[in-house]
Amino acid sequence: MESRTEVLLIAPCGMNCGTCVACLRERNRCPGCRGPDDKKSVTRRDCRIKNCAVFHKEDAGFCFECGDFPCDRLKHLDKRYRTKYHMSMIENLENIRKFGILEFMENEKIRWTCARCGGTICVHRGCCYDCGEKIS
Ligand SMILES: [Zn+2]
Repeated sequence: MESRTEVLLIAPCGMNCGTCVACLRERNRCPGCRGPDDKKSVTRRDCRIKNCAVFHKEDAGFCFECGDFPCDRLKHLDKRYRTKYHMSMIENLENIRKFGILEFMENEKIRWTCARCGGTICVHRGCCYDCGEKIS
């Protein structure tokens, strides 16, 4: 396996924390949804999807493993991200289910790597975090 750290950056909801502005910044850097709680902001620590009962049993769990998938809470989050950031958590989860987490990670790496500088594209900014290049 390539990097467990990278796999751990995929939250139960399908969010790639590695593309999140809170995870990319230098100061008060968020360790990702699966990281230690004391280093996260309150909205992330208290996220009701991450804290959903299903994931207390299985550390590496994803929402698609749940009988309620996709639940209203996830659909709501997905809609917000599709509308605001052109990214779908549910689509991510379906790809993880279909291709497996490692292949998904490979595709994510391609999708979020800046063609100009090789930096990381930030989903919230819609451009490269390092050089500001827009997503084509
Ligand atoms: Zn760049």
